[in-house]
Amino acid sequence: TLEARRISCWFGDHKVLERVSLTMPAGQVTALIGPSGCGKSTFLRTLNRMHELVPSASLAGEVLLDGEDIYARGRRLTEARRRIGMVFQKPNPFPAMSIYDNVTAGLKLTGQRVRESSKDALVEECLTKAGLWKEVRARLRQPGGALSGGQQQRLCIARSLAVRPKVLLMDEPCSALDPTSTRRIEETIRELAHEVTIVIVTHNMQQAARVSDQCAFFLAEQGTPGGIVEHGPTTAMFGNPTDPRTADYVEGRF
Ligand code: ATP
Ligand code: MG
Repeated sequence: TLEARRISCWFGDHKVLERVSLTMPAGQVTALIGPSGCGKSTFLRTLNRMHELVPSASLAGEVLLDGEDIYARGRRLTEARRRIGMVFQKPNPFPAMSIYDNVTAGLKLTGQRVRESSKDALVEECLTKAGLWKEVRARLRQPGGALSGGQQQRLCIARSLAVRPKVLLMDEPCSALDPTSTRRIEETIRELAHEVTIVIVTHNMQQAARVSDQCAFFLAEQGTPGGIVEHGPTTAMFGNPTDPRTADYVEGRF
């Protein structure tokens, strides 16, 4: 379970998130929805300290992974990133590296040792979970860049899984993909939810309804920092939202 507590975030003097709290339970898919610029990606990045890549960014609040604060003094950044993986909008495999080496690339980066003899099994396992194994098993030595966009995104999912994360953060993972690839990734997300906590940002309301167990609706009203207006089980958010702004958004009125 991943728990964000009172997260505020600034870029320089510009406050973009105001005391956002959200519990993302293990075994569930949480969808973050809301209009452009309301802080969904920023919030997602604070969940694995990715916002620290922006020099002007500063943060207040806590993020607890199974009760441990990933920001606690002495906690290592690489450890947080290993346990909390991220998949981006644009598929970003290492294009010249083989499919096989793409899957195992994260192990070295996070300082994990895996015996050579168990690598083959790990690669097969991760590609299978990402729904890509059957398509690439005969071409593991070909470059990652030779795959289609949808295949590349599934390769990125496999690469994230290889370091055995507890949480997978996905920022609009399908918005660069065709409908068929999108459906396949949605199926993968549902399968993965049994073992990895998933948090997905999406602009596609049908997708949020199909893949998520709970939804959080973000909004940044004129000149104010972003925050969560309403969150709850996906069925309630879509079927019976309590805030009129949620109803307007999920029904496509803004
Ligand atoms: P979208 O749906 O368009 O992806 P979003 O909800 O993901 O939007 P964010 O990208 O989190 O929104 O942006 C939230 C606010 O933070 C915006 O006002 C944006 O301009 C600002 N912001 C985001 N990244 C940076 C940055 N690196 N430097 C300065 N401001 C930033
Ligand atoms: Mg975004």
